[in-house]
Amino acid sequence: MTKPSLSQLISNPSCMDDYDPNSMPVEKARQFIKQFLDPVAGSEMVTLHESLGRVIAQDILSPANVPNYDNSAMDGYALNAQDLNAARLKVIGTAFAGKAYSGTVAQGECVRIMTGASMPQGTDTVAMQEKVLRDGDNIQFTETPRPRANVRYAGEDMQQGQCVLSAGHLMNPAELGLLASLGIAVVNVYRKLKVAFFSTGDELVAIGKPLATGQVYDSNRYTLYGMLCRLGVEVIDLGAIADDPVLLEKTLLEAATQADVIITSGGVSVGEADYMKELLSKHGQVMFWKLAMKPGRPLAYGKVGNAHYFGLPGNPVAVMVTFYQFVREALLTLMGQSTSTPLPMFTVECTTPIRKLAGRTEFQRGILYTDAAGTWKVKPTGAQGSAILSSMSLANCFIVLGETIGNLDAGAMVQVQVLEGII
Ligand code: AMP
Ligand code: MG
Repeated sequence: MTKPSLSQLISNPSCMDDYDPNSMPVEKARQFIKQFLDPVAGSEMVTLHESLGRVIAQDILSPANVPNYDNSAMDGYALNAQDLNAARLKVIGTAFAGKAYSGTVAQGECVRIMTGASMPQGTDTVAMQEKVLRDGDNIQFTETPRPRANVRYAGEDMQQGQCVLSAGHLMNPAELGLLASLGIAVVNVYRKLKVAFFSTGDELVAIGKPLATGQVYDSNRYTLYGMLCRLGVEVIDLGAIADDPVLLEKTLLEAATQADVIITSGGVSVGEADYMKELLSKHGQVMFWKLAMKPGRPLAYGKVGNAHYFGLPGNPVAVMVTFYQFVREALLTLMGQSTSTPLPMFTVECTTPIRKLAGRTEFQRGILYTDAAGTWKVKPTGAQGSAILSSMSLANCFIVLGETIGNLDAGAMVQVQVLEGII
């Protein structure tokens, strides 16, 4: 079945099962957005250092066996397994990492060997130094090793020609080391995704200026900046734009020509006669939803020209929650990441009662902590209003409460999504 286009869906949304723009389930909105996401076209060669946080654009095959020679996994004595029953073996030399023993080991002989040293000719087994008695030039086993024990064989980690990383793989510290271990110095990665963002609202004031009653500082552009930088995209900050149709139109069109993705905050509440909605209908193909979630009721997704558009709510916590729940995964796909990367969820005990309305998904801000016995548990941060940004700062996780869940007593098991990853 060919997938419907955005314009078909906008003109005839009933072709989606149970479609209700006024109560859009979180998972459905996620799946909806997913069908329009393809990796950005274009790649570039970067150095191994620069590839950190980028997505590989082409399969990488191992140019060699890793390790490329049989070597010792232990400090000990290299010998032939056929000598394992010998009463004693004669030590005829030493093999160091980077300085091999060049001779051949005959029956009844062995070589003192260090971890990482190449296995001398005639040997296939290493006896750990702690499991032998040495007496002058002879050794005796206190515990006989198994044949071929304590040897790292050539190709054991990776074989020549084997695909070590597939296109679509995100480069993390392990991948830097992995490619370095293969001697690979440059990597073909997808070009950086360009993401333009701006805030909307007459009440917004830039930091550094005095605040009058009825005004608020524009904090959304800073949380968005932080989250986007962490994802490794190229950020284009277009500022805070007043609720003025001319300015908003100019900024929106400028964003669409410069960026792969446009993100705005504020001004997308469904049903409001506001300028963003009109402008988006004029210049793009955009779906407006009221999500069945809290915080983050209004959300808009679509295209403006070739750019993907995400219209996030104005409330500061709602911006972060909708970014993490919808935008993050979408941007990773656009950046080229091939595997779906939802935030992992874990079940833990919540030690405080929770007030929750059934019928919507709630992302309460939580603190994961260890109790006296060392068990990880969670409690909400306190007040959960969508404007209380300090709750995001206090939190180290979301407590994810699904649609069917209502009020919970202390001791209930809940699902959590950890906000910080390992570095
Ligand atoms: P809106 O979605 O435009 O109706 O905004 C909802 C709420 O979020 C209002 O209280 C706004 O003042 C607030 N808000 C909107 N944009 C921002 C922003 N960039 N920074 C801080 N608060 C904002
Ligand atoms: Mg507004």
